[in-house]
Amino acid sequence: MTVPLLTAIPIGVTAERAADLPAFTPDSNAARSTIPDIYKWDLSPLFASDEAWDAARMKLLAEIPGLEAYDGKLAEPAALRACLDLYFRLHLNANFVTLYANLRQSTAQSDETANAMVQRSLAAMDELMQAAAFIRREVLTLSTESLETAYSAEPGLAEYRSYLDNLRRRADRLLPPEAERVLALLGDNLWAEIDLNEIPSPLETAFDALRTDIPWPEITDEQGEKVRLNLANYTRYRASADRDVRREAVAALFGTLRQYQHALAATLAGQFQLDVDYARARGYDTALEAYLDKDDIDPAVYDNLVSTINANLPLLHRYVELRKKALGLDDIHLYDLYIPIAEGVAVEVPFADARTTILAALAPLGADYGAALAEGLDPTNGWLDLYPHRDKRSGAFSASVYGPHPYVFMNYQNSLDDMSTLAHEFGHALHSDLAMKAQPYPAFRYVPFLAEIASTCNESLLSDYLVNKATDPAEKAYLLVERLETIRTTIFRQTMFAEFERRVHGFVEDGTPVTAALLDETYRDLLQRYYGPGYTVDENDGMEWAYIPHFYYKYYVYSYATGLTSGIAIADRVTTLGEPAAEAFLAMLAGGASAPPLELLAGAGVDLTKPDALDAAMRTFEKTLDQVEKLMEK
Ligand SMILES: [Zn+2]
Repeated sequence: MTVPLLTAIPIGVTAERAADLPAFTPDSNAARSTIPDIYKWDLSPLFASDEAWDAARMKLLAEIPGLEAYDGKLAEPAALRACLDLYFRLHLNANFVTLYANLRQSTAQSDETANAMVQRSLAAMDELMQAAAFIRREVLTLSTESLETAYSAEPGLAEYRSYLDNLRRRADRLLPPEAERVLALLGDNLWAEIDLNEIPSPLETAFDALRTDIPWPEITDEQGEKVRLNLANYTRYRASADRDVRREAVAALFGTLRQYQHALAATLAGQFQLDVDYARARGYDTALEAYLDKDDIDPAVYDNLVSTINANLPLLHRYVELRKKALGLDDIHLYDLYIPIAEGVAVEVPFADARTTILAALAPLGADYGAALAEGLDPTNGWLDLYPHRDKRSGAFSASVYGPHPYVFMNYQNSLDDMSTLAHEFGHALHSDLAMKAQPYPAFRYVPFLAEIASTCNESLLSDYLVNKATDPAEKAYLLVERLETIRTTIFRQTMFAEFERRVHGFVEDGTPVTAALLDETYRDLLQRYYGPGYTVDENDGMEWAYIPHFYYKYYVYSYATGLTSGIAIADRVTTLGEPAAEAFLAMLAGGASAPPLELLAGAGVDLTKPDALDAAMRTFEKTLDQVEKLMEK
């Protein structure tokens, strides 16, 4: 059924065109050829054909050796300029080659040609990175004076200033060449361009292997059938409406992890030891400082996140009590946290309606943003690959390369969640689009720390819009509970993970042996404190630390919490302050990587070293709790 809140709102061209879109019923088992072409993306702005792609790849490979001519010569301004010109041209070409291969493969997963193209594009990118390693190494060792001389002698170098500044920011962490050589062999490289998390450490590999080898037990499903539990179906059983099923799933998973606790503790302790060793090798006091410095983030952001969320834990306790009451339970456990407490509403949101709704919900971001959004959401423009089909990758993402329009990959199946995902992905896409239009190539790619702000701001504005329009109390309750869950899992839970990560790295830094018992106790303690006195921690719940792969990502999880916090705070500012707040936000997006991330974010009115933005997100949580409590009384 189509709910009244999704009635089309006439917004210029788009609303009129919506009627022209061919009707289509998504079917994830259908062949790609059954989907009307209008709902598939157009890869021709990247390459006209696979042959054109291959020719570009061959040309790239032929040009890479040209970089060698500059090795050892970057102290000369003209050579530096010419070398960076060539490097960034090849870098852009390599990005075209990898993006085309990846997008092509994402809709043809078992196509051998597509898979081989991905491998070939990665090999080309790798070759470029190897050939260009001397650039980053030499730039790090240039003196400030010689670089300033180079800027005056070669005004064209100005285009590379933010890139060079960021590269040289940690120049004082550079060790003598022999020491750097040894660290690079061990996998720590100060001038690596790719994120170190893309290459798993031997400890992470061991952890993954261990989880693959663990014989997961059978549980009884809702129909009374025996089913084999695994890491993929666990989240579904954990959220089962049948309490016996979800209780057994959680107990079985954690009980099984318990049997391997010493091996699992050894891999995590080994990873954290490695994190601390690398940090110390470069003269940092803590791993936290070292890994935040990589993205130029002040550790005060981390401390502020943990302390402000801790100060607001009574709100999470209130939510736990609300869940208990809504579910009619006397006691509440980990396995009661994932079941929906609002009746699911059967809302059918065809793409045409979603598009109209998203455009209306994001209207507060201004006409220019709206125009770019309308362009991307018009499927005739080729940004979108909308519907699921056989052999298509799952999930959703946005990807872009400097120049052509961004791409948005969806598995749209007409649900309310899908509409929200669409708004989320368009946040990413337009962030790239705005940065691309405003910045030169070397300064366009925003850092991961900023990535989830534009996307969650869009989701938040959409959620507000839908709640305000909702007339049916059941629908309103559903939307509000979704918001509570998003904040619980993304702000509270990720902050709990962040706190765990900081505490356990702290044990390593103090020389306290990290045993399975210590990890268990630390995690149980956090669970009890976060979920409150009315929450029951079961025997093996402390083993959840062994279920979270993110602890191997070197201080990464906190950025999920800061991302959503900033997104909510900005949506709030846009709603209450209007145009000036929207303009400041768009300027942040257009800033790309032209300035340090915290500086860009401060421009949008969010200072993450202070509690304000976090408090704003917590007030949103509190207000939502009030609304849900009121609806429940009725
Ligand atoms: Zn995202």
